[in-house]
Amino acid sequence: MTEDTISGILDFSKRPLIISGPCSAETEKQVMDTAKGLKDLDKVDLFRAGIWKPRTYPGSFEGVGEVGFPWLKRVKEEYSFPLTVEVAKAKHVELCLENDIDVLWIGARSTTNPFVVQEIADAISGVDIPVMVKNPINPDIALWLGAIERLLKSGASRVAAIHRGFSNLGEKYYRNSPQWQIAIEFRRQYPDIPLICDPSHICGRRETIFEVSQKAIDLRYDGLMIESHIDPDHAWSDASQQLTPPAFGALMDRLTYRTEHMDDPPIQNELEMLRNNIDNIDETIIRLLANRMEISRKIGHYKKENNVTIFQSKRWNEIINRCVKLAIQEDLSEEFIINYIKAVHDESIDQQENIMNED
Ligand code: PEP
Ligand code: MN
Repeated sequence: MTEDTISGILDFSKRPLIISGPCSAETEKQVMDTAKGLKDLDKVDLFRAGIWKPRTYPGSFEGVGEVGFPWLKRVKEEYSFPLTVEVAKAKHVELCLENDIDVLWIGARSTTNPFVVQEIADAISGVDIPVMVKNPINPDIALWLGAIERLLKSGASRVAAIHRGFSNLGEKYYRNSPQWQIAIEFRRQYPDIPLICDPSHICGRRETIFEVSQKAIDLRYDGLMIESHIDPDHAWSDASQQLTPPAFGALMDRLTYRTEHMDDPPIQNELEMLRNNIDNIDETIIRLLANRMEISRKIGHYKKENNVTIFQSKRWNEIINRCVKLAIQEDLSEEFIINYIKAVHDESIDQQENIMNED
């Protein structure tokens, strides 16, 4: 590969960056056949394959290890794909560098552990290889931000983040709840770090990968990482979420790319007006919330004078039921309105508590 291509690997000017390849390198044939299928599509910028797999349960396939590197070398030579591999310790970094891997990624389980992240950060110090950092498995944005900071402090200048969703007990629809607001907050705090979505690990099943990919594109993510396998049903890891190269190509063709800025003046005016309306409504809502809190503080004084508890479950149930009923009539989702009213109620309790605690 030319120097030029290497420097362009994490160049997001040609957005979005598309990363694909199998969850794990299994055999030379599986790697080569998958790479050929992807090459024929001409849509992939970076080829991924796990060499070491951090598996939740012992006894699961834990990756082929170093024997996989010559296969990846062939992928690079025959199909001129740059390569990315997951690293979870300094030894992995060393082997990836020896084997001409172009981009490293830190997996979700590793991001949860600052010792591991620091070990990797130390190992890349002075090398300046691009590194992508998956979000931690738990919804703790600080661990994600902290990992990025450790790499930047080690001198890494090409760092990207991968949003792969969060473990969530009771979640059924997704394998890992996307919790988009965490990724949006990440982007707010690090607007210059490219943000890539990994719909495969969010979804855990093929059927929903398109909708999550489209949402990521609509939220202006800088790239997508989607697992593909020449024979997904017989994959040694993550069988239900991998796509054949043709299915991956069809999914890419279905995606709609929308521009962030509108050039057409009439549309821009119209949009401006609608946004003004939204700003006005937000203002009104905030003022009404302030009124609501004022009333709530008055109630707080009565409760204090009469020695009554702040929380009364009968009243709280009445509020929820009333709001949900109204929200459904108004075409708002039940989940949204419950989240909203809980947030308002929490604030109201805090304010009444302050009153109770006043001398
Ligand atoms: C993977 O990319 O195959 C992987 C192990 O992902 P994660 O770290 O997101 O679980
Ligand atoms: Mn996987």
